[in-house]
Amino acid sequence: MQNQLLNKNSIALQTTTRTRVAVAKGDGIGPEIMDATLKIMEAAGAQIDVDFIEIGEQQYLSGNTSGISPQAWAAIKNNKIILKAPITTPQGKGYKSLNVTLRKSLGLFANVRPVTALHPYIHTPYPEMDVMIIRENEEDLYAGIEHQQTDDVVQCLKLITRPGCERIIRYAFEYAKAYGRKKVTCMVKDNIMKLTDGLFHRVFKEIAEEYPQIESNSQIIDIGSARLAARPEQYDVIVTANLYGDIISDIAAEIAGSVGMAGSANVGTAVAMFEAIHGSAPDIAGKKIANPSGLINGAVLMLAHLGQTEVADNIKNALLATIEAGIHTADIYNEGTSARLVNTSEFAEAVIARLGETPKSLKVSKLSEGAGTIQIPEYVRKTRKKELVGVDVFIDWKGEDPNQIGDALAAIDAFKLKLKMITNRGVKVYPKGLKETYKTDHWRCRFVAMDATTDGTPVYQPVDYEQVVALLSKLHAQGFDVIKTENLYEFDGTRGFSLGQGE
Ligand code: NAD
Repeated sequence: MQNQLLNKNSIALQTTTRTRVAVAKGDGIGPEIMDATLKIMEAAGAQIDVDFIEIGEQQYLSGNTSGISPQAWAAIKNNKIILKAPITTPQGKGYKSLNVTLRKSLGLFANVRPVTALHPYIHTPYPEMDVMIIRENEEDLYAGIEHQQTDDVVQCLKLITRPGCERIIRYAFEYAKAYGRKKVTCMVKDNIMKLTDGLFHRVFKEIAEEYPQIESNSQIIDIGSARLAARPEQYDVIVTANLYGDIISDIAAEIAGSVGMAGSANVGTAVAMFEAIHGSAPDIAGKKIANPSGLINGAVLMLAHLGQTEVADNIKNALLATIEAGIHTADIYNEGTSARLVNTSEFAEAVIARLGETPKSLKVSKLSEGAGTIQIPEYVRKTRKKELVGVDVFIDWKGEDPNQIGDALAAIDAFKLKLKMITNRGVKVYPKGLKETYKTDHWRCRFVAMDATTDGTPVYQPVDYEQVVALLSKLHAQGFDVIKTENLYEFDGTRGFSLGQGE
C-alpha cells in the first residue's frame, strides 16, 4: 500500500520519492561500517540522499558538551531522518549522553529493537527466537529527576504519563499490524506500582481491545524477563516501560548471540533515528575488520520506516544469504562453520553480490508484505474532577520512636486535616507500627480530612489548599523539617494515591 506522507502523527513514511537523510559517520569503527552500509544501500537502489553531519567525539572535545554541532542540529531538523554510526563519549565530567539528548529533544518516544536468532550460523541456544522489543524511550525513571532529601535518603521520580503510554502501546499494536506480527505482550510491575505501572497496564488493555485480530497478554516484568531468557521463542512483540525495556532488550540481544548484529530504531512523531546497538569499538578502530551488520540492520529498519520496504527486504535477505554462505567478519567467524574470513569492505561486497537472493534456511525478510503506515492519533486529554483530600508531608527527623513524632503531629490542629498515619520507606510505623520495621530519617506523614467509616473504607472529604498551607506553617513553626509535600487528590471520586504498606 502506498500512502503519501501525511501528517505529523504518521510514523512510517510511505513514499517512493527520494528522502534526505542526516548521516553521522560517528567515531571509532563508525566511518568504516557507515561506508559499507551506504555502499550497500546505493547498490540496492535506496531512494535516499545523504547529508553528512558532525556529531560525537570531536564535537565534545571542541567544547560542545552535547556533542552535536549547530549545523548537525539544522540538518536533523530539516531532514527528520537520521542514520547514525556509534560515537565515542570521551571520559570526563560534563559530557552529556548524545543519545539521551537526541531521544529527548527530538521526542523519539519508541525504541524499537528486533532480535532474531541466526542459528546455526551464529551460535544461540534459541534457534527459533524472533522477537521485537518496543521500549518507551522518554519517561519512567529516565526522566532523571532525582533529589537527596535527608542524610539517609535519595529519591528518583518515576513519571509515567497517559499520552506516553498511549503512543508507545499503540505503536506496538500498529507495528504488529503493519508487519504481520501475531501477538503483543505487555511487561509491567503493577502488582507493586499500582498507579504508574498500573496506568501502563490499563492503557495496554484499553488499546488491545481496538486490535482484536492481534493476540495480547501481560506479564509481570520479573517472570516475563525470566521467561524471555529461557523461552524467547514464545514472544513476538513486547511493549514495556523505559527501564524494563532497556534491560530486556540487552538480555534478548545477548541470548540471540548477536549483540554485534542488532540494529535499532528510535522513532518519534516528527523525527526518527536508526543505528546499530553496539558502540564505537575503539579496540578495533582503523583495522577495517568491524562487522557492519548492526548498522546494516539499522538501515533496513530506516528503509522500512521510509516505506522502501522492497529495498529493505532486498538488503536484509542479501545480508542473511551472506551469513548463510559462511562469509563472516572476525567477530562471528568460527573455524568449524565459517567458510571465509572477510574484512568490513569485503563483507559489504559479498552482501552487494547477493542482492536479489534470498536465504535458504534463515527466515526470509518480508517487510514488503506489511500492511502500510503506522498511525498514532493526536492525544486527547479527558479532564476529570480533581479534588484535594489531603497531603503527604515528608519530614526529616532524626528520632527513632515513631510514637514520639506521631503523637506530636496528631496534636496539630489544622482545620479538617488530621494525621492519618506515618510511614517510613512506605511501611506504616504509626499508629501501631511494628518495632521490627527499620526506620530511616525520612518520615512520610499523611494528613487527610476523613469521615469515620464503619467498614474500614476511608471516605475522604475535600479540603482547601489554604488548609495545607496552614498545616505547613504550623509544622514549620513547631520546628519540623519539612522536605517535601505531595498533595493527595481524588479524580472523579477515585483515589489518586497509593496506600501505605499496612495502612
Ligand atoms: P562496544 O560495543 O564499542 O565494544 C564492545 C566489544 O564489542 C569490543 O570488543 C568491540 O571490539 C566489539 N564490537 C563492537 N561492535 C563491533 C562490530 N561491529 N564488529 C566487531 N566487533 C565489535 O562497547 P564499549 O567498548 O563499551 O564502548 C566503546 C565506546 O562506544 C564508548 O565510548 C561508548 O560510550 C560508546 N558507545 C556508543 C554507543 C552509540 O553510539 N550508540 C553505544 C554503546 C557504546
